[in-house]
Amino acid sequence: MEQKSLNDIVPKTVEKEFPWPVFDEADINAVSEVLRSGNWGSPNCDDLVESFESEFAAYCGTKYAVSCVNGSVALRISLIACGVRPGDEVIVPPYTFIATASIVLEANCVPVFVDIDPDTYNIDPAEIEKAITKRTKAIIPVHFAGQACDMDEIMAIAKKHDLMVIEDACHGHGAEYKRMKLGSIGDTGCFSFQSSKNLTSGEGGIITTNDEKLFDMMNSLRNVGRVKGGKWYEHHNPGCNYRITQLQAALLSNQLKRLEEQTKKRHENGTYLNSLLENIEGIKPLARDRGETLHSYHIYIFRYDKSKFNGLSKSRFAEMLAAEGVPSFMGYPQPLYKQPVFQNKNFMCYAIPEEVDYSGVSCPVTEKACYDEAVWILQNAMLGEKDDMDKFAEAIRKIKKAVSP
Ligand SMILES: *Cc1c(COP(=O)(O)O)cnc(C)c1O
Repeated sequence: MEQKSLNDIVPKTVEKEFPWPVFDEADINAVSEVLRSGNWGSPNCDDLVESFESEFAAYCGTKYAVSCVNGSVALRISLIACGVRPGDEVIVPPYTFIATASIVLEANCVPVFVDIDPDTYNIDPAEIEKAITKRTKAIIPVHFAGQACDMDEIMAIAKKHDLMVIEDACHGHGAEYKRMKLGSIGDTGCFSFQSSKNLTSGEGGIITTNDEKLFDMMNSLRNVGRVKGGKWYEHHNPGCNYRITQLQAALLSNQLKRLEEQTKKRHENGTYLNSLLENIEGIKPLARDRGETLHSYHIYIFRYDKSKFNGLSKSRFAEMLAAEGVPSFMGYPQPLYKQPVFQNKNFMCYAIPEEVDYSGVSCPVTEKACYDEAVWILQNAMLGEKDDMDKFAEAIRKIKKAVSP
């Protein structure tokens, strides 16, 4: 098939830039004030960190929140606090960022990959039960792209099999399932404040929970094993220094004020863009209405069918869409279990049984999503206006026309 060059489709359909992060004088003042005060961090200056934790817990509707250096550590501390033993199995989806699975290895446990639902790209509850063994200890459902997992089903399975549930809500700040904020449903909820995320301080993370015992343990693990009321050089648990600074906390407190409004805007734009893309043959937005009352659209994902685009490959289509000015790309190039760390058994962990082998793992829905189907539009673009969504749809129609015979 002859493909037209990118030059055939200039000028770009979308000329506008979609800035991220978003900040103003109030953020600058909040950070400068801490800077000038000299109170940048512990031991004696954790007040802004503690206030931010209270604000975030209140926002999520949980009793507690523990901040830490990033989302990966949030997941890792959660898993360890849940009491996993070496060699225990933890169920994870293969269509997610590496941290969801690599922290399981770091905790001396075995990640067991369970495929995603082809309509939502979230872990498929029907497949979870099939993967449960005597060694299964926890499930880490990822609210992928900011859409809530089917938490009623997942919590019911967890209850039946006595498993812990660690919500990976690193895409889901502010998003809701049946009017409950993500991170408030499982045993713990983990968030990242890395620079691409919907709430950011460059790096950072937080864990939400309603369980006092888990809170105390996670609090200790991120603070070199110290305990409430203990002395500075008194260490009860094998923790590490995973604390954030006052500068980060000041910025996050101010950024948090914008989150609800930004989330509603992305939800509104995503819903509208769905209505536009549904009408383009060969483009299928992910399904909605699986209980999510607010979708944070950390990523807007649609499914691409090259047979309706004259055989144009997904990667080439994604390049053309980006060249049209839509902040987009093809997403993960492969399922997590195909990564060298799993294929080459580079576990660096001797608690993982010899027979664990990922060379035969196959999750067909995830493979299709990675290789053929999923195209991502980034969250900052979802903060645009309604007419920007019109232009995103127009860019897709323009590519379709350009490649049609
Ligand atoms: C970003 C992310 C993480 C890890 O967060 P970091 O802050 O980068 O460590 C974990 N899970 C998912 C789904 C993520 O997107």
